[in-house]
Amino acid sequence: MTDGAGSSDALVLGDVAPADVRVRYSPSPTGNPHVGVIRTALYNSAFSRHFGGTFVFRIEDTDAARDSEESYEAMLEALRWLGLHWDEGPDIGGPYAPYRQSERHDTYASVAAKLLETGRAYHCYCTPEELDERREAARAAGKPSGYDGKCRTLTAEQVAAYVEEGRQPVLRLRMPDQDVTFVDLIRGEITVDRFNLFDYVIVRANGQPLYPLVNPVDDAVMGITHVLRGEDLLSSTPRQLVLHQALRDIGVASGPLPRFGHLPLVTGEGNRKLSKRDPESSLQLYRDRGFLPEGLLNYLALLGWSIGDDREVFSMDEMAAAFDVTRVNSASARFDLKKAEAINGVWLRRLSPDDLAERMVPYLQAAGVLASPVPAESMELLRAATPLVQERMTVLDEAVGMLGFLFAPGPVAFDEDAVAKVLTADARPVLRAARDRLAEDEKWTTESIEAGLRSALVEELGLKPKHAFGPVRVAVTGRRVSPPLFESLELLGRDRTLARLDAALARLPG
Ligand code: GLU
Ligand code: ZN
Repeated sequence: MTDGAGSSDALVLGDVAPADVRVRYSPSPTGNPHVGVIRTALYNSAFSRHFGGTFVFRIEDTDAARDSEESYEAMLEALRWLGLHWDEGPDIGGPYAPYRQSERHDTYASVAAKLLETGRAYHCYCTPEELDERREAARAAGKPSGYDGKCRTLTAEQVAAYVEEGRQPVLRLRMPDQDVTFVDLIRGEITVDRFNLFDYVIVRANGQPLYPLVNPVDDAVMGITHVLRGEDLLSSTPRQLVLHQALRDIGVASGPLPRFGHLPLVTGEGNRKLSKRDPESSLQLYRDRGFLPEGLLNYLALLGWSIGDDREVFSMDEMAAAFDVTRVNSASARFDLKKAEAINGVWLRRLSPDDLAERMVPYLQAAGVLASPVPAESMELLRAATPLVQERMTVLDEAVGMLGFLFAPGPVAFDEDAVAKVLTADARPVLRAARDRLAEDEKWTTESIEAGLRSALVEELGLKPKHAFGPVRVAVTGRRVSPPLFESLELLGRDRTLARLDAALARLPG
């Protein structure tokens, strides 16, 4: 435990020693990783690091129809890119391997058999039609409409008759005849009335074990001490706790019941829950735009938690040291793209220019600005140009627009709007004068370029700086917004600068 750990650490731990803390991140591999689940992974990672415990990565792939190998690979890739480390997982193994539920059927089958043997679970032979009928009747009578417990007490004769008919039973867990209460680490005490706890199905008639069985069984046998997961799973917690208790009673697991904390929903525009299907929820989108792992993680950390003192920028080490799950908000957290970008910008400015240059490379390559591998002289140019853009960028992808002009071997790609607004007939004398003066500049330094252009355009032509330098900027960079002009020209070199001024002059109207 770190210095300054508050008294809430003791409450969070209960009887668990800090080093014995075990948490897990257990996504189902469907679709693309989205920011909400990554926030869950991050909080689990910070929590385990805070206590010096263990972070387990488990894949919940029991739904063959929806799960995919691509999605599993994408999740691994995403977590690795972000730099989140786990101590046990499908790729690295660990004492409770395998960590993919699709490879753990023997465990579920033997636990299900024990639950049945000990009477904690029972076979239910009701057909879907019978269940529907009784549910309707209960509704009509204003009674709870969950499973009514009919098969809890079947006699041997009744069972024999059903078997004779060829019915295949499902397995249901027997719920206690009392309310279930637990203390959520974020939301406080939660009580669920026994009338809302129905004996639910844990194994299908075809033998397939279901989420309500496999998720708590794995948490129990893997010794998970704390479960931090999305609020959408809150309703399953009371019945999972019942199963946890049963597993301890029948000797399948030991140790205290896990403690639960339900993380607030992440919402998007209009306060709707951000779902996997919303394009702005896709982690890949932020990666493609050039968020830094540091910046994105920092922003995701703020979705429900704060480090205090109104500080918004902090490292993952700082987060781990300070993380206190009891201070996570219960109210939903809105994903605010502007803020995410602003925080990313701070991280981007903190990088050393050489590091930033390296990180821009893949984006410049993807846009065709740089070749692969990057020629040594291009890399040198990129390093020299990086300080010019570092203060102006929020995401790496902006490097393409800001620096593309430097690497275009021939003519620059023009932004049509810039051409229409700036490269008008009025620009002719400006570009002419700029070209003539720059052609005489032997030194070609930022200072000499600036002095030459000021004297030729501002003093001699009497232009305001904006009207003097705007046309030169568009002619040379193709855009109205660019890195600082004189530095850019210096890096571009005299020959290419003059050639671009000539090309711009040639395309002027009138
Ligand atoms: N596999 C579950 C899901 O992706 C997670 C369940 C849990 O965290 O308890 O929703
Ligand atoms: Zn039944």
